[in-house]
Amino acid sequence: MSKKKARREAPEMILRVKLDLCSKDGNLTEALCLYNEARANGVQLNVHHYNVLLYLCCPNRDLSKEDEGNLTMLDRGFEIFKQMGIDKVEPNEATFTNLSRLAAAKEDPRLAFDLVKQMTEHGIVPKLRSYGPALFGFCKKGMADEAYEVDFHMRDNGVLPEETELTALLRVSSEFKKEGKVYEMIHRLRTTVRQVSEETAATITDWFKSKIASEIGEEKWDMEKVRKGFLEGGGGWHGQGWLGKGDWRVVRTTMDESGVCRSCGEKLVCIDIDPKETEKFAELLATLASQKEARTNFAKFQEWLQRQGPFDAVVDGANLGLANKHTFSFSQIARVVNELRQISPSKKLPLIILHQGRVSGGPAQNPNNKRLLESWKKGGSLYATPQGSNDDWYWLYAAVSCKCLLVTNDEMRDHLFNLLGNNFFPRWKEKHQARLKPSGDGLLTLHMPPPYSHVIQESKQGNWHIPTVTGDDLETPRQWICATRTRLHE
Ligand SMILES: [Zn+2]
Repeated sequence: MSKKKARREAPEMILRVKLDLCSKDGNLTEALCLYNEARANGVQLNVHHYNVLLYLCCPNRDLSKEDEGNLTMLDRGFEIFKQMGIDKVEPNEATFTNLSRLAAAKEDPRLAFDLVKQMTEHGIVPKLRSYGPALFGFCKKGMADEAYEVDFHMRDNGVLPEETELTALLRVSSEFKKEGKVYEMIHRLRTTVRQVSEETAATITDWFKSKIASEIGEEKWDMEKVRKGFLEGGGGWHGQGWLGKGDWRVVRTTMDESGVCRSCGEKLVCIDIDPKETEKFAELLATLASQKEARTNFAKFQEWLQRQGPFDAVVDGANLGLANKHTFSFSQIARVVNELRQISPSKKLPLIILHQGRVSGGPAQNPNNKRLLESWKKGGSLYATPQGSNDDWYWLYAAVSCKCLLVTNDEMRDHLFNLLGNNFFPRWKEKHQARLKPSGDGLLTLHMPPPYSHVIQESKQGNWHIPTVTGDDLETPRQWICATRTRLHE
């Protein structure tokens, strides 16, 4: 018998094939028969066998309390896991994923949390999804302190909660009158997501409307401390806790062009970006671009930019030439370029980035367009990106390194921009991206970046403004929650 054939006919292999078949058909009964038989015959089960069995013990729908059969099924899963320990079979991440699904189905968050702790004991690094059954389970059962414990465990293991997790923590804190924790979660949402989903908005609104929210807060606060906190935080929050007392007035509203709340009249602030952060980001961009683009091409561009820059604005030529048009329009670019030149403090032409193909073929052959391209080239403000390059890297790098305006209607959400992370890039984009919107006469008008930051803001008076993801600022105004005290001092 050949070695290969021997392996194929080993009882462990036959069991594996049969179990995989059960997994495909969702046949738990058959799988349990195979399991009992294998154990009776002294077949060595490995981690894969166990994982298939555990997977099959997970119900694929929500359980109702009366579902006795299913509950036994869950217990059966845990028995199998226990046996795994007795047999000294080392569990892997898939084992724990299946187990935490079992614990979630049992609605037993303690068990789910215990499993995460066991994971770390086995040297497996928990992921965000590993914590879900424990965290959401505790929150659902109103076990606030236990939920915070999960939160601490996540922090200790370098797992960052996202909006869903923070909102669950916020909700349980609000229900159990933990005002300090509510305050903390709103701040964490502020740095994690900036603008909140409708679900989070509803949770925050419920908090402000609660009795406890009207009862808590400093009546006489240290103005100096608040002012200092505001300054040190870069504006938009002070971190000194709830200020004022009395009922909250919570409304859905919008901001005017200058960032004044249409409900309470408070002016929102524009949060500065640390120039050092921008420089670090420009370095990251250059590194990524050099990896993705032909290295010499991008290095050549960097040198060119050193020589010709800095610019006051960068134009994404391809996007602008096609904005609101079926065919590429150089005159549309020219109008915006002239407008940008007029508002430039040094009356300098903006940098126009266009792909090589755009500056040589097609509409570029038209005599008027030829003249335009020639004048931009002579003015040192046109850069044609080489064949095979992705011009996105060029215009983004130029705008970031010049710390200037970027004109594009590209929402910058595709794959390339996903590489840039969620911490710095959304803040930079909000402050630097100018967009174009067609006006009544069919021409495009330039819309400058907003003079205020679209992020949860806490004012020096203790009022709150919370931006939602509803509305896009260009076509429809963004929806904000405005929360102010109906009376500041009693
Ligand atoms: Zn307001």
